[in-house]
Amino acid sequence: GLTERLQNAMKTLRGKGKVSESDLRETMREIRLALLEADVNFDVVKTFVKTVRDRAMGSKVLDGLNPAQQIVKIVNEELTKTMGSDASELNKSPKIPTIIMMVGLQGAGKTTTAGKLANKLKTEQHARPLFIAADVYRPAAIDQLEQVAKQIDVPVFQLGTDVDPVEIVRQGLAKAEADKNDYVIIDTAGRLQIDEQLMDELANIKKLANPTEILLVVDAMTGQNAVNTATGFNDKLDITGVVLTKLDGDTRGGAALSIRAVTGKPIKFVGEGEKMSDLDTFHPDRMASRILGMGDMLTLIEKAQQVSDEKQAADLEQKMRENSFDFNDFLDQMDQMNKMGGMESIMKMIPGLANNPALANAQIDPKDLAHMRATVYSMTPQEREHPEVLNPSRRRRIAAGAGRPVQEVNRMIKQFDQMKKMMKQMSNGNMGALDQMVPG
Ligand code: GDP
Ligand code: MG
Repeated sequence: GLTERLQNAMKTLRGKGKVSESDLRETMREIRLALLEADVNFDVVKTFVKTVRDRAMGSKVLDGLNPAQQIVKIVNEELTKTMGSDASELNKSPKIPTIIMMVGLQGAGKTTTAGKLANKLKTEQHARPLFIAADVYRPAAIDQLEQVAKQIDVPVFQLGTDVDPVEIVRQGLAKAEADKNDYVIIDTAGRLQIDEQLMDELANIKKLANPTEILLVVDAMTGQNAVNTATGFNDKLDITGVVLTKLDGDTRGGAALSIRAVTGKPIKFVGEGEKMSDLDTFHPDRMASRILGMGDMLTLIEKAQQVSDEKQAADLEQKMRENSFDFNDFLDQMDQMNKMGGMESIMKMIPGLANNPALANAQIDPKDLAHMRATVYSMTPQEREHPEVLNPSRRRRIAAGAGRPVQEVNRMIKQFDQMKKMMKQMSNGNMGALDQMVPG
């Protein structure tokens, strides 16, 4: 499977202290083959491999990570990004009922997923959904929906198999209105392949019902075909999301990887079994780890990152002790703050201050951070290392270079001086110095 192939691809790098260009090329070739073999769309693979390669070449070496781990980290992050980064919620209509239309090929899992979804809405939101049975081509289809509905105690609106599906939906919606159902789930027909007639019928149902969600149900086991199916349905119906079913089997991850990238539509849920409870929200990061099959490795990488941050903290402490904190460090600190989101992070790096309540509300506007950064960038290397040379004319030049008022530059330099002074005092063991340090 994809997981093993990717793991093999990384093996080339294992135990190497340094990655040569040819090692990287070889690894990328393997990753490319692994993805293509897992039926990931060709264009998606091309973009993916290029992004990973560029990042791997340009990345600075993280302390505590060997080259193989770094590549795994990059691959993991890019896999996550390719699948849409964040989990995607089910949309809700401001006015009841929220109408959800299930579409997809025959056997993809529409009826089963309709049941799972209703079950989820019932248990999580105490919702009162209604099913509309709009698959009139196979007599067994309505029976199947009835059986599913019975398991979870949800009513079904049906008019047998002799009525036009659009008419069934029209009457079903009237029924939902009368009964004040908050959700309506329309179970539609599928075919073995996309065909015009079915697409027209679904387009007509869409036009009538104006659903909040059109969920395309695709069988993950069909690989590249799932992607073609998704493209076909999306072109005609402008779907709102995808449900990937049958991920419980020995399923290749290819479909999950391609669908988002090719259609631009999020995967909202995954089906992982035949039971009514086997429906989960889709989490791109979890799927990425699963595809990589490298849970342990990823934990290790997270730890190494912490170590790297700790090392930075130790460096800072040393600088404080030597009183050699300069504007380059200031810039590093701002980057760190940006990364961790807040003034408190800088303090957390200082032993003994991590949980000080005085810091709880310390916040810096990201815009201010950007301005500070621009100001430091306008300094010469000498000015950054020796802030004492910053006389008025230099300050005016820096202000002009950064496009900020000179008063702001003065204020920042003052803050910097305070920070430096405070750090010196604290490194001498005087924690009371913190009181003088009120940001903003
Ligand atoms: P429809 O034709 O699109 O309505 O598909 P069905 O809902 O009838 O499902 C077709 C078959 O796939 C049934 O046997 C389901 O039990 C099965 N199925 C649906 N979803 C899943 C899933 O997530 N995992 C597994 N293992 N089977 C599923
Ligand atoms: Mg069905």
